[in-house]
Amino acid sequence: MDNGRRWREDHARTGSSPPPKRKRTSHNGPSSVDNGIQNGSAALRCDQYNIAWICALHFEMAAARAMLDDFHEPLLAHATDTNTYILGSIQRHNIVIACLPTAQHGMNNAAIVATNLRRTFPSIRLGLMVGVGGGAPGMADIRLGDVVVGTRVMQYDLGKIVGEGQFEGTATWRIPHQSLGTAVSVLRSKHELEPSRIPHILGEKLERQPDFLRPRLRDRLFSATYNHQVPTGSCDECDPSKLVPRSTRISGDPVIHYGGIASANQVMKSSAVRDNVARRLDVKCFEMETSGLMDTFSCLPIRGISDYSDSHKSDEWQRYAAAVAAAYARELIEALPKTHAQTQAVDLPDSRKLVKLQLIGNVSRSVCPTFKCRSKYIASSSSTIARLT
Ligand SMILES: [Zn+2]
Repeated sequence: MDNGRRWREDHARTGSSPPPKRKRTSHNGPSSVDNGIQNGSAALRCDQYNIAWICALHFEMAAARAMLDDFHEPLLAHATDTNTYILGSIQRHNIVIACLPTAQHGMNNAAIVATNLRRTFPSIRLGLMVGVGGGAPGMADIRLGDVVVGTRVMQYDLGKIVGEGQFEGTATWRIPHQSLGTAVSVLRSKHELEPSRIPHILGEKLERQPDFLRPRLRDRLFSATYNHQVPTGSCDECDPSKLVPRSTRISGDPVIHYGGIASANQVMKSSAVRDNVARRLDVKCFEMETSGLMDTFSCLPIRGISDYSDSHKSDEWQRYAAAVAAAYARELIEALPKTHAQTQAVDLPDSRKLVKLQLIGNVSRSVCPTFKCRSKYIASSSSTIARLT
């Protein structure tokens, strides 16, 4: 049953009130005053965006795009920024969505995207790395379509070779920023008392996108000692007697797991190595980007589980897993408090003018377009230009 239909039937059964009607999505610019857009202006300033939402794959970006309430007009990027952005908002939070270049994955590319993003959007304070990941099923009852939220991240392929060739890791744990951690705590406390809104959000935002709905495929986890049989084929040729017996879940809704995530510049497709690394580091998921982002800004990895990090890995669950991760990200953003900075109406010219000023090297009081904010502008523009260079 699709999520939207399930939601409607669930609520018809319980008699609960319907959700707020979805806010009309505008591709021509927002109309909300609450998130900083005033007087029908179509574009915000670069310094009005506080949250970066990073994706590695195009369909992850599609899921992110679907989660926005409003789209904003594009802004002129910093001269050396090679990213292409989707700008928008979720409730009162202004969001920058960026994606790694097509077919260029891994931590180095993630770091480049993050560095460019900070050049154009100097007020970014939080980052979310949202997409698919490979589960470590020996560490928890993880199923395809579940979500793993990384409360700590480690690059597991960073280290040295010692003795007879043994690998010795030298990386340390990276912990998401405290403000992300406290928001996660608030959401977890809410989920102790009531279900996650993920199914509701999926029904609302992706009901008409069948590729992103839960696949009608069996969730198969094979024994760690049994490898995939047909290199280019599905698991239909694999021996069903090698499946790991698991209890049937009453609900098909995603389960959210919290814990460590292992990050590296390589795809994990070995169940033996997976289990070894997972036990050694106590991690529940493998991915390829978050460690590359953590040096640029604090980042929380949110991963929808699309495979089990073994030789049976396939793409069949990827879009649904990406959608589930995006829905969790939206639910988390909804839980974030509005910051003091977001309440300040700083009267500055937009960042396009700052970039232009930087390029022509002509910063002076006379270029300020609003006399009443002159002193603020001079101070703030200098610091902003300093950050941009
Ligand atoms: Zn297989």
